[in-house]
Amino acid sequence: MAGFFSRLKQGLSRSSERLNSVFVKRLLDDDTLEELEDELIAADLGPAVAERIITKFRETSFGQNVTSEEIRATLAHEISHVLEPVAVPFTPDPEKKPHVVLVVGVNGTGKTTTIGKMAHQYRQEGKSVTLVAGDTFRAAAVEQLQVWGERVGAPVIAGKQGGDAAGLAYDGLKRATEEKTDVLLVDTAGRLHNKNALMEELAKIIRVMKKFDDTAPHSVLLVLDATTGQNAIEQVRVFQELVNVSGLIVTKLDGSARGGIVVALAEKFKLPVHMVGVGEKAEDLRPFSAQDYARGLVG
Ligand code: GDP
Repeated sequence: MAGFFSRLKQGLSRSSERLNSVFVKRLLDDDTLEELEDELIAADLGPAVAERIITKFRETSFGQNVTSEEIRATLAHEISHVLEPVAVPFTPDPEKKPHVVLVVGVNGTGKTTTIGKMAHQYRQEGKSVTLVAGDTFRAAAVEQLQVWGERVGAPVIAGKQGGDAAGLAYDGLKRATEEKTDVLLVDTAGRLHNKNALMEELAKIIRVMKKFDDTAPHSVLLVLDATTGQNAIEQVRVFQELVNVSGLIVTKLDGSARGGIVVALAEKFKLPVHMVGVGEKAEDLRPFSAQDYARGLVG
């Protein structure tokens, strides 16, 4: 955990170093607050959160000499406050056989890898998992999922490249239901350059699955790449138009200097942030903890 958070820290710690030099024995006046606000925005926290934090400083400490420790403590407290309502663990419903999870997101954000990691976790917990290789446009995605499936011991429903993802999803749901599988994870293509085609494809996957089980999918998880910073905001907007997003997974928080985007996402959309990806390996998926994250971010 220590390694993860020291890496995550790069987000605000670059700023914090500057904050240190800016704030050691410094008067919290208008100039200083403006500088701090700029730092918060540069760290991707977004203008709304930045403004709220500055207001807090203004109310509590304006005109006082503050140390960087005090600044950090207030920052961590305020950030944690924004994150707490969205830090919702993701647990498949054991009553559902299977709990159907549709995983969506722009290509390259880490959908396939995240599905592999989730499958690994659930298998470790003794749950049965079936995977649907619904990203039929990217041959590598199918192979990638097959590798994960073999590694973790989960059957993979796959078809021809360019084939019908909805048909695969239907087959996967039928099989998982017959076999009373605990979790069905459905990968999808994320070709955002053709929004209408993507919308139709996702709608069809959902429509076809509903023919078999009208409660499916039970969760629609949107995978976002933290390194894309503010682009993640636009991606949530677009995917919310396309599907009924139930929660977020933010990947690539290892080595990223952009961890602040999670705060902006939490503030803007109030969608649950279920998990974060902190590497490419099977165990590099963590539940999202507001306090740990806030503390890690601030340094
Ligand atoms: P997809 O197109 O959305 O299915 O994305 P992939 O799962 O193929 O991931 C794209 C790339 O990001 C791959 O090289 C993954 O190994 C990598 N990746 C995914 N999640 C993470 C993460 O949390 N950290 C890091 N460093 N790389 C990741």
